[in-house]
Amino acid sequence: MAGRVAKFVEAWKSIFVGHNITMRRGYSRGNEVTELYPYEKPQLAERFRGAPQLVRIAGETSEKEGSCTGCGLCAKACPVNCITVERNKDKEAPLKVASWTLDLTKCMICGLCAEACPQAALVMSHDYENAVYAKDKLIYDMERVLRRPIHIMPAATTVSEES
Ligand code: SF4
Ligand code: SF4
Repeated sequence: MAGRVAKFVEAWKSIFVGHNITMRRGYSRGNEVTELYPYEKPQLAERFRGAPQLVRIAGETSEKEGSCTGCGLCAKACPVNCITVERNKDKEAPLKVASWTLDLTKCMICGLCAEACPQAALVMSHDYENAVYAKDKLIYDMERVLRRPIHIMPAATTVSEES
């Protein structure tokens, strides 16, 4: 009998404790654990990895600034072949890269491509809002990927420098 009473008391105690936490969290201000996304954007950690982002192309900016030269190392590093790069064969052409394409439908945001880039021309952005109605909208060619309005991670926190 005593055991059953103890269990009964324990059950009520856990119900009371659970409700107490819910009420405190639900009605206190500044203590919320949920977010009103998409109306309010979450605070991302600096190390957060979003979609890969090409930031500069050699020819458009000085190579000293760290611009894509079309070396293809990012494409080689990608385990799921999201990136295709073609170098310009015409040495007189203003851009060294003929095409640079990212297929975000396959990308798993691992960051290996950015880590492999010797020019710091490819970074992992803070861009996580990639929902679209048509899959082809997630294929980013050079022009689109450079135009994307995104937040770039600070250079000091790129994947290669974290490790
Ligand atoms: S590794 Fe960097 S420089 Fe080379 S093709 Fe990729 S983005 Fe361009
Ligand atoms: S983040 Fe990973 S999966 Fe995505 S393109 Fe880069 S290497 Fe490929």
